[in-house]
Amino acid sequence: MPTYLHCGPPLALAAMLGRRRVSTGLLLAGVAASIVPDIDMLNVWYAGVRYNTLLGHRGLTHSIGFAVALGLLAALAARRCGWQRGIAFLFVALSTVSHPVLDLLTDRGIGTALFYPLTEQRVSLPWRPLPLTAAGLFGAARFWLECAWIGLPLLAFAAFGAALRRWCDRIRPADRRVPARAYAD
Ligand SMILES: [Zn+2]
Repeated sequence: MPTYLHCGPPLALAAMLGRRRVSTGLLLAGVAASIVPDIDMLNVWYAGVRYNTLLGHRGLTHSIGFAVALGLLAALAARRCGWQRGIAFLFVALSTVSHPVLDLLTDRGIGTALFYPLTEQRVSLPWRPLPLTAAGLFGAARFWLECAWIGLPLLAFAAFGAALRRWCDRIRPADRRVPARAYAD
């Protein structure tokens, strides 16, 4: 697993969507959702669950089903928290599923049950470009590797997305300036 940059995808998504759509509260919910899948390690450490079972590491909590469930929880909380329901669902679901996707890019650990509940089968990628096995779980070596392989692509994604959003937002007011009588014909 990446140690430092699991929270990168929600930060990049928030930068892309802007503060009007992603409030600080929703951003914090997304950051929490991007980290929470590794809570399954508690099952392994304290409940004696086997590592490679559905409730073990990279099982249920590393699946699209789990991401959808957290997204639905965010959608349910949206009105109370002042979030747009659709954006809250998508933001939290995407933040959650970004976790197993980043895990799949690393060269350590077993595959993830990404497609649960459709199948419990673990999947892994033939191409795992994040060489974290030799880097140790913490420390500068891992930090810089994650910056290079996760941080830089996410920065590019955020910058491109934010530029696209600003461009779209610039077009919309121009449309509104068209007088109503222009459509009369
Ligand atoms: Zn994980």
